[in-house]
Amino acid sequence: MEKTWQLALLNWYRENKRDLPWRKTRDPYAIWVSEIMLQQTRVDTVIPYYERFLALFPDIQALSGAPIENVYKAWEGLGYYSRARNLQRGAQTVLERFDGAMPREAALLQKIPGIGEYTAGAISSIAFDQPACAVDGNVMRVGARLYADEQDIALPATKKYWQKEALGWIPQGQAGDFNQSLMELGALVCLPRGAKCPDCPVRQWCRAFETGQVEALPVKSAKAKPKVECYRVLALVDEKERVLFCRRPEDGLLGGLWLLPMLARGEDVESYIASLGLTALERLPLGRARHVFTHLVWEMEGELIYVRGGGSLPQGGAWVEKGGWQALALPGAQAKLVRALEEALC
Ligand code: SF4
Repeated sequence: MEKTWQLALLNWYRENKRDLPWRKTRDPYAIWVSEIMLQQTRVDTVIPYYERFLALFPDIQALSGAPIENVYKAWEGLGYYSRARNLQRGAQTVLERFDGAMPREAALLQKIPGIGEYTAGAISSIAFDQPACAVDGNVMRVGARLYADEQDIALPATKKYWQKEALGWIPQGQAGDFNQSLMELGALVCLPRGAKCPDCPVRQWCRAFETGQVEALPVKSAKAKPKVECYRVLALVDEKERVLFCRRPEDGLLGGLWLLPMLARGEDVESYIASLGLTALERLPLGRARHVFTHLVWEMEGELIYVRGGGSLPQGGAWVEKGGWQALALPGAQAKLVRALEEALC
């Protein structure tokens, strides 16, 4: 099959690609780090994190052996911390199961924690030029428009369809650049809204452009609304101006990170304080904060409570000296409330 649009796209990519740090390497570990960081995160945000992370953990050995706290700290502000935890677990798996060398094939890469189909395809093609595809929403959008395809891209079956198609698009021996050219087209030209068709290198092959369906494609059914959870966030300050923080269990949302204690709606603040052997001296409002995760929203109402006494600590709890929490891995979810706490204490 003659791959006309594919070659036009490749040429355009080679002349116009953005100068990004992970495009200067074929090191599969570095490409892996970049791919994980780029999930749900903008390129401009990722660049400094990527460079710092690789300076701190330059290879699989360094990441495997690092204290998880240091890994979280390097990730702080990027969000979706399970990615950092899985990256380290993945590095440990590469050491244990693959003698420290990343496998070349996408199917083997998927056996590593945190590496799904897309990331496996990206690493296999970009680092090793293996004929693997890397299909995400961007690539499906480009495909749906190029072929004026009306399948719903929210459906798993549609993704399977595009994975099969995309595998057939790859010009021989050029999987890495080709996959990146598709990603680049989706990121810079074939945008979800306001596609820049006049600048598009594959416009002459694009059926959606030809038939005036660009804005109508791809078809995507609406997602379910995220669940909203309401919490009261307590900044308990003792007589030595120490603040109680709790480390979340390793598994689950924000696993291993430190947060101010949170009570779900319906839990009683006074009883919680009493359960720790504390007495509240003064209670002050600390403001509200909202944090949006992928499928979940936290609505938080903060309270600053001066306490005295003490006895038992909640699970994962520790009293932290004033300002000492800056050395802890704190998630962005409570950043606004922690800032309000710092202002109130200074
Ligand atoms: Fe996308 Fe427009 Fe290019 Fe078609 S012509 S691939 S719709 S940017």
